[in-house]
Amino acid sequence: GLADHHPAVRAAYERVVRRDPDQPEFRQAVLEVLETLSPVLVQHPEYVEAGILERLCEPERQIVFRVPWRDDRGRVHVNRGFRVEFNGALGPYKGGLRFHPSVDLGVVKFLGFEQIFKNALTGMSIGGGKGGSDFDPKGRSDAEVERFCQSFMTELFRHLGEHTDVPAGDIGVGGREIGYLFGQYRRLANRWEAGVLTGKGLEWGGSRVRTEATGYGAVLFAQRMLERRGRSLEGVRVVVSGSGNVALYAAEKAQQLGAVVVACSDSGGYVLDEKGLDLDLLKQIKEVERGRVADYPARRGGAARYVAGGSVWEVPCTVALPCATQNELDAEDARALVRNEVAAVAEGANMPTTPEAVRVLREAGVLFAPGKAANAGGVATSVLEMRQNARRESWSFEYTEAELARIMADVHDRCEEAAERHGAPGDYVLGANAAGFERVADAMLAQGLV
Ligand code: GLU
Repeated sequence: GLADHHPAVRAAYERVVRRDPDQPEFRQAVLEVLETLSPVLVQHPEYVEAGILERLCEPERQIVFRVPWRDDRGRVHVNRGFRVEFNGALGPYKGGLRFHPSVDLGVVKFLGFEQIFKNALTGMSIGGGKGGSDFDPKGRSDAEVERFCQSFMTELFRHLGEHTDVPAGDIGVGGREIGYLFGQYRRLANRWEAGVLTGKGLEWGGSRVRTEATGYGAVLFAQRMLERRGRSLEGVRVVVSGSGNVALYAAEKAQQLGAVVVACSDSGGYVLDEKGLDLDLLKQIKEVERGRVADYPARRGGAARYVAGGSVWEVPCTVALPCATQNELDAEDARALVRNEVAAVAEGANMPTTPEAVRVLREAGVLFAPGKAANAGGVATSVLEMRQNARRESWSFEYTEAELARIMADVHDRCEEAAERHGAPGDYVLGANAAGFERVADAMLAQGLV
């Protein structure tokens, strides 16, 4: 519990529990941050005096709207749309849109809350926000997805703007959806405002490396964490969970750095390929055909096999990269990883490791990189996209990737520095929360009571 924490921490948490009793993910995300902030508040009584914690836990604005659309058979569906503009002290609200049946206000608030600190950690000028819908794109035709996106944007557009709020993708929202959303925004606003969405196609304002950035960044973060301790990814066994955009490009970067990526998963089960995953084949199945990892072994031939319903974390590895979704790696999974002598866990997804699992890993001395630091490469590259849009430029892959690598090194070092300064060297959880919080809190303090 929070018994021996700063009274302001306890009060802020109690307020969240009282006001939002039915938002478990949001409460979990808030507790994870608040638990680490007592030493920061002891050093900065001015944060307490200015009510920073209470203000941080309350979104600046929450938009909930109806999204009506018609399926291919002519039937009407009504989904719920969300955009939570959580904190704008550092810049325009920035964060992805998630289309998944599990999306509700509490999920969007948890993601938006994480996004505040993540965005602050990049050192760039962006606030935190998140949005989405409980729409399930699975099994829907292109035309249905197009109509849904158009309806969704018909309400959302009035809240957006390159200096106001800039969405991007997340689970269920990739290049196809960003295209439909951008088209509808452009039509309604009658402006070519490239900087209003990120993750756009390369021919119409998108940035090279944006697709790869979240996964690449997570591996670059893990690599730096290992390098600091005299280790590397060369020849190391890696397991990723998920098989979406983050997982595929985390696997790709890990392979480029000499690791052997032996497994990945989706909601149905996992594939194990001892020779190392064939990423061209996986991309063909997942990105082109929108299929399942279950299809992989038959087409790979040889040793690969599919384990239906199994947990990918039972596969022994030295580095684990959870890249699927929140709370996917529980205490039992963590114990399996520890038994198999995992050295590092870096979160490509947002909050994929349960609090209990984080405890198990930390007690076993496993290096742990929280998502708000390790997966910050995605949103950072979104800001590189906004930068290119503002300058009407289009950067090369090499240049953009070098920028991403520089930013990830900075994110790592900010966490490392803050952890040391607060007397917990090597604690990336405390480091990420403290460094992100201090930057936002200082901006809020300077801007007065808003
Ligand atoms: N959805 C991504 C995240 O969780 C990217 C957000 C963005 O690029 O704005 O950070």
